[in-house]
Amino acid sequence: MSEERFYSPDIIKKNKKTRERVDNLRKSDSIDDDSVYDLAKAENKFREEYKRDGLLEDCLEKYADKFTTLNLEKFEAQKSNWIDGLTGLRNKKALYGEMPCLLGLAKRNNHDCSVLMIDMDFFKRVNDEYGHLAGDQTLKIVADIIRNSVRESDLLYRFGGEEFVVALYDTDSRLSQTIAEKIRKNVEKSGIVVLDDQDNQQAFKKTVSIGCVGTDQLKTWESTMEDNIDDILEDLIQKADISLYRAKNTGRNKAVVYEPNNDKIIFEKV
Ligand code: GH3
Ligand code: MG
Ligand code: MG
Repeated sequence: MSEERFYSPDIIKKNKKTRERVDNLRKSDSIDDDSVYDLAKAENKFREEYKRDGLLEDCLEKYADKFTTLNLEKFEAQKSNWIDGLTGLRNKKALYGEMPCLLGLAKRNNHDCSVLMIDMDFFKRVNDEYGHLAGDQTLKIVADIIRNSVRESDLLYRFGGEEFVVALYDTDSRLSQTIAEKIRKNVEKSGIVVLDDQDNQQAFKKTVSIGCVGTDQLKTWESTMEDNIDDILEDLIQKADISLYRAKNTGRNKAVVYEPNNDKIIFEKV
């Protein structure tokens, strides 16, 4: 366990930006009153953020490092901010904290990674028919179905309301299709039982649409450096989203993999 090292590039990047702002203000020839105020504010913000994230001692001297190591204890403490209260899954903040590390690791080890963007079909109807609490219960159940459909080492996030993201390490786009299809089928076949606003049991089924993309599909992946890993992440999220909307627009309850060349759907449900 002592060998375990965790990185938190989102925090480092955020603080690096603040630090750069401070440094730039310092360097400017004529500092007016506003700039002095700005400088003080930026410096306070920088310190507060480090303190809040429990990184001050470890990181203050090393702020310029791209990745600063955290020990496991601090990582655990920080993780509580990264959990979605309703589903117990990691949240969006965790995604932007962890995925650059995952991608950086994949890059170093010459592996591919894939992203699945999952959105529930006609979820609003659950809220409309049975109430918001029934909607919440449904979200929890579907989150569990997805969790049970992937490996424990795969990272699963609640990305937004009824949207989930799965990050698959050492998985190319081809394999991501198979995994997405497994998730889709598991949701489709599972019965969902919830209590409605009148405390009556309601049983129904729901489906999901999924957009998939792998680093093997990105033109920039081969040549990318660790400096550009955030761009890679944004690219993956965007392309997974495009594929998801293609799944929605072509009938829902399907997994669609991103098609870089001719924009056509190359995978549909079987
Ligand atoms: P589509 O197939 O096009 O995705 O249809 P949809 O109804 O799922 O999509 P839409 O985006 O119109 O609706 C999503 C709904 O999810 C709207 C919002 O009220 C609901 N929602 C978002 N977060 C939560 C939540 O935490 N709990 C509950 N109960 N509902 C939520
Ligand atoms: Mg939806
Ligand atoms: Mg949605």
